[in-house]
Amino acid sequence: MTSLDTAELELMPAEQVGQEGAPWDQALAQIRSVAEYLGLADDLCAMLASSRKALEVSLPIRLDNGRIETFTGYRVQHSTTRGPSKGGLRFHPLVDLEMIKALAMSMTWKCALVELPYGGGKGGIRCDPTLLSLGERERLTRRYAAEVYPIIGPGRDVLAPDLNTGEREMAWIYDTYSTLSGGNVGSPVTGRPVLVGGSSGRRTATGFGVACCCRWIAERLEIPPPVRLVIAGFGNVGQAVASELARDPAFRIVAISDVNGCRRSPSGLPSLDIQRAAAAGSSIVEIGCGDLVDRDSALWTECDILVPAAISGVIDAEMASEVSARVIVEGANGPLTDAADSLLRRRGVEVVPDILANSGGVIASYLESIQETEPTRFSDEEVARLVRERLRNAFAEVADLADSRQVSMRLAALSIAVQRVADAHVSRGLYP
Ligand code: NAD
Repeated sequence: MTSLDTAELELMPAEQVGQEGAPWDQALAQIRSVAEYLGLADDLCAMLASSRKALEVSLPIRLDNGRIETFTGYRVQHSTTRGPSKGGLRFHPLVDLEMIKALAMSMTWKCALVELPYGGGKGGIRCDPTLLSLGERERLTRRYAAEVYPIIGPGRDVLAPDLNTGEREMAWIYDTYSTLSGGNVGSPVTGRPVLVGGSSGRRTATGFGVACCCRWIAERLEIPPPVRLVIAGFGNVGQAVASELARDPAFRIVAISDVNGCRRSPSGLPSLDIQRAAAAGSSIVEIGCGDLVDRDSALWTECDILVPAAISGVIDAEMASEVSARVIVEGANGPLTDAADSLLRRRGVEVVPDILANSGGVIASYLESIQETEPTRFSDEEVARLVRERLRNAFAEVADLADSRQVSMRLAALSIAVQRVADAHVSRGLYP
């Protein structure tokens, strides 16, 4: 590594839907900065910056009203150097190829950071899932699975849940894939329902890992208990973080928001109400305690740790100047815009980056795929233990490097991950 002055490096979150620049341009700027920091050759950097494969598909489906509507979907395999590509599938109106390419690249770094034998991939369908009936959603998911069938599958590219997708969509993809293959030839997805080979700990693993990172960073920075916590986003990830830390007396959850609003109480929201809402998957506004305020108020609520766990780019520079948290633990992918990230860094706010903080899900996915080939079933406790152990090692490695080099945790995490992928490229050599 070079000892380049890190103040010159403006490292940006990989995923951005905010207004401050295109996501793919930002992902490229990020890899170039890290390559420069690591002293990697330009040609190697250019290879690391390219996606191995990007597929765009048209998805015509019949709506319930009889009309045909054609959606657009994508599957991108950024890297297969360290193993098959791995990454989620999201449904969102803002999905486009550049966003999916940026997210696939981020998955490559995430898998390398926690030392999983995977590359990075991502998929998406541009749609507003709130406007789809259950039947339309199923037809869309199955058509997508059929269109990307030639490039996905075990050993090639394995999908997982992401924004607005879950076990149900994974089961449909698994079923479509098996039907087209003419048999059970292994799973092209993780995050399936337990009944059809899924792992019971997978659904909560991402949030559980985020909660672990909150504990470790609080210990490391010696934040005295009760650590005041705000969670912005109450879906798969946010609910699991809330549920885990509501039971921990060292934490006090002072606000939780979702798309409908924010519940806030400086003395702490009641633990049982939070756990009930998380278990029921209900909106946080329904818990009926604490003050009901608008959803963005969560971001500037007085607290020690802020966990953005919704969509990307929700904290822009203007909001970042209002953030009172001492630490941000990125539950979502790329919740900070580039300008917000730089500003928070200048203000001395510690950021535990997404590729570290939310890697619990992909670790659990790896355990699920082991279950497929080995006569083993991991219990919830084993999944939690194995996720915690692997994440703990990565967290310690990143935090130690950040301390010793006096760099941000984001730069430390990315430099470890990028170096691993670069080394793997060199050791495999080039075809032909
Ligand atoms: P989800 O669809 O289950 O939940 C998203 C939540 O965000 C919902 O509660 C929604 O109401 C809320 N929300 C949307 N816009 C908001 C806003 N402006 N302010 C506050 N809340 C808002 O999605 P998820 O699976 O929990 O994923 C959340 C993020 O975590 C995404 O960035 C995703 O890429 C990332 N992630 C998810 C996983 C996983 O295992 N699900 C793994 C790694 C990363």
